[in-house]
Amino acid sequence: MSDAAPLNSFKATAKILTWLDAMGCLKLPIDLDLVRQMLPDTPFGRGTVIKEPADLTWNASEGALVRNSDNHAEWGIFVNPKARAERKRFTVAHELGHFVLHRKVQSTFNCDKESVYSGIDTLKQIEREADDFASNLLMPGDLLRDRIGGERIDFHLLGTLAKEFGVSLEAMCIRLVKYTEQRAVLVYWDHGFLKYQWPSTEARKTRVHLRQTGDPQEPLPGTLAADDETPQEWDGVDMPASSWCSSEAEEITLRELKHSYTGGNRVLSLLMLESAPPRAHIRSGWEDEETRDTTGILSHN
Ligand SMILES: [Zn+2]
Repeated sequence: MSDAAPLNSFKATAKILTWLDAMGCLKLPIDLDLVRQMLPDTPFGRGTVIKEPADLTWNASEGALVRNSDNHAEWGIFVNPKARAERKRFTVAHELGHFVLHRKVQSTFNCDKESVYSGIDTLKQIEREADDFASNLLMPGDLLRDRIGGERIDFHLLGTLAKEFGVSLEAMCIRLVKYTEQRAVLVYWDHGFLKYQWPSTEARKTRVHLRQTGDPQEPLPGTLAADDETPQEWDGVDMPASSWCSSEAEEITLRELKHSYTGGNRVLSLLMLESAPPRAHIRSGWEDEETRDTTGILSHN
């Protein structure tokens, strides 16, 4: 490993998955305890010890990675004990990402709810990298591709995959929109307002742009997201894409999927759009996605 070529989350997880495969241990769900114990025997962690994850007790973070101040070779991972099992797994994988990618520049990482697990675009760079690391490690692209193949995307499939990979439905949806070659947008609603929207690469290329209702953004009239009588629609319902997207021609359709979490205050919408040619010259909202802040609109957590 050369210092001249810094590791990124994709390269690092690809290596780790190769090592697991060589040991005959590339199975689902990915064994994070094995990864934790293996890293000190690899170039990613030589000369260190990573202690078994322990409960986080000293603050309201979701997770932390901390170097022992008395023994600089020793690192500890801490996880919110109240989190659900799949969230804890994502947090551990996220902290392992900080260990592999960032421990030379920082000795303590406190990761809050927004930085762990949500994968939102506006996060600090290192938090995004640790999220990408966790996402790639827990949901290896090759294994995901094998399973999705030409299957129709719906929440039945994504829910089954989430269980198999040991992640949440949201984490699986985020992985899907990052990986898919289809035009798709994941939209997360929190207490009736937009928390984030995440377009796939194809959606960005074709300038998919959600209609604005105001700031903060509310669900659009006529969509399932706005229909309180339909808390779940796991197969999806076809509708004109223009119901959601001001950028779309009248004849284009999309399939809207909806999942409401227990209590109904958090809703996941997944939009699968019909394909369309890239539109390089039409301005919409996605050109400036690097600076666009869809997460700061509302924080009810
Ligand atoms: Zn973090």
